[in-house]
Amino acid sequence: MLRLIFFIFVALILYSLLRFFFKSMLSSRKKKDGKQELEELVQDPYCQTYIPRGSALKKRVTGRDYYFCNDKCLKNYVQKEVKNKETKNG
Ligand SMILES: [Zn+2]
Repeated sequence: MLRLIFFIFVALILYSLLRFFFKSMLSSRKKKDGKQELEELVQDPYCQTYIPRGSALKKRVTGRDYYFCNDKCLKNYVQKEVKNKETKNG
């Protein structure tokens, strides 16, 4: 009798383990699908290069969102924009 209870217990554990594996497999698939959405390309307004939005640097300049390929382009573009504003005002 004890053996039977032990067998049922093991079967239950195996069943829950299988369910856990299936769930984790499904969730990892969903994560991969979400990554594809991030692969949308955005243009760097400073050097005109296209970069995936996921790896681009986002910066808000004069009320608009811009994406840059690296920190150098970001700083150069912001400086240029600030200079343009100053010349307009002065
Ligand atoms: Zn750039």
